[in-house]
Amino acid sequence: MALRFKNSLTRTKEDFHPIEPGKVRLYTCGPTVYDFAHIGNFRTYIFEDLLRRYLKYKDYQVTHVMNLTDVDDKTIRDSRAAGVSLKQHTQPLIKAFFEDLDALGIERAEHYPAATDHIPEMVAMIKQLQDNGLAYEIDGNYYFKISAFPDYGKLANLDLTELKAGARVATDEYEKDSVSDFALWKAWDEDDGDIYWETELGKGRPGWHIECSAMSMKHLGETIDAHSGGHDNIFPHHENEIAQSEGATGKRFVRHWIHCGYLLVDGEKMSKSKGNYFRLRDVLQRGYNPLAIRLLLLSTHYRKPLNFTFEGLKGAEKNLKQLQAFLRRLERERTTVAEGPKSLGIGMGGAGVAINQAKDEFAKALTEDLNIAKALAAIFEMTRVVNTMLDDGMVLQEEMEQASEALLGFDHVLGLKLDEVREGEGVDAAFVETKLAERAKAKKAKDYARADAIRDELAALGVIVEDTPQGTKWFYAK
Ligand code: AMP
Ligand code: ZN
Repeated sequence: MALRFKNSLTRTKEDFHPIEPGKVRLYTCGPTVYDFAHIGNFRTYIFEDLLRRYLKYKDYQVTHVMNLTDVDDKTIRDSRAAGVSLKQHTQPLIKAFFEDLDALGIERAEHYPAATDHIPEMVAMIKQLQDNGLAYEIDGNYYFKISAFPDYGKLANLDLTELKAGARVATDEYEKDSVSDFALWKAWDEDDGDIYWETELGKGRPGWHIECSAMSMKHLGETIDAHSGGHDNIFPHHENEIAQSEGATGKRFVRHWIHCGYLLVDGEKMSKSKGNYFRLRDVLQRGYNPLAIRLLLLSTHYRKPLNFTFEGLKGAEKNLKQLQAFLRRLERERTTVAEGPKSLGIGMGGAGVAINQAKDEFAKALTEDLNIAKALAAIFEMTRVVNTMLDDGMVLQEEMEQASEALLGFDHVLGLKLDEVREGEGVDAAFVETKLAERAKAKKAKDYARADAIRDELAALGVIVEDTPQGTKWFYAK
């Protein structure tokens, strides 16, 4: 079954067929490294990681490029304000960005080109646009002439009938009501200090939008399979990328545009300018597990808005623990619980059915526009059913193996590092066994107070002990 994604360009769900069968060229807009990324940014980056992981899970060979915007209005403004060079300002933030990616379990893209390493490619593209009658120069600034590009507005669905001829905008970011010719290259002025490049276009620096067009083309070619970013990238950034790239080559730039919805705070988009943001570090300092943040940001369908609350984060932490505990329980019971009554085979096999159902539903949900909420629901249902069956001693050892294999398989897509928490996390199984042996001895000696004390001690460590007709069982609290 073909994968389907909603294409922001056509505003419909479309089958996904890459240009070259089996290979995907994916470009995602990366951070502007003027400050630490906030968790709203990471919602988009985690979604893109899900997209990338899912494509790989479906056996596509993915070449993923994420740019680093290390020169634009904001990086220049902030490095100048701090009295340091552009590089001195951006380098530590790039390092911090990669640390955050690792903490959140975001896989590395194949390439992270930096804008400042691609100035010649940008200059060449601007010259090509000028040759094609789509760019013009005023006082050393170069602008894209949107009236000469009839497709302008097709992504953001703009009505250009009211367009004021000759209106220009020099800033990198602007709202829809100021649709106008936008800057490709900005001539040096004294606010730029020593941040400029001497090029065939004169002394200056690139506009933000040309950076992505040039880097995408350099690393992935003229037409790519998929391009994504957050919803706010649609206009003006991606609209302008289309104009520049298609204006330069005359070819289609991107086949599938896929955009992620906002992370909100009290119903408003989380953003630096509104001040309603949390950096990843701010949340980690409060003691939260980064993978719980990942699960939270991942678990709502990517196109829907998601309201961030610490209550929600606590819920995600609980859900993550539940998956970790389930996996540990499977691992442990697979090796320690004797077949016992199960070998009789009565009523057995139900767990296998639940596991296969989860696998089917997981695959189906993701095929249809990456419906992660549905895919996760299938996993939690499997966890619930198999846990209950384990309580009743109704799971065959091969089914325990199947369940843990299925869960680890799902985790290739989820990226929750479940394989890293099986061993050594929480209380050591050998320690529990020693305590249980001590408890059995106490019970035999009719020292019930001591037996109960051991049980309470384990409970305080998150280990639940149950006496069943098949003997004493224990598991990690869900
Ligand atoms: P920026 O560094 O501002 O270019 O943003 C980096 C990425 O984060 C872009 O793809 C934005 O669309 C995305 N982004 C910014 N704010 C949010 C938000 N509140 N929710 C989701 N994505 C966001
Ligand atoms: Zn971009």
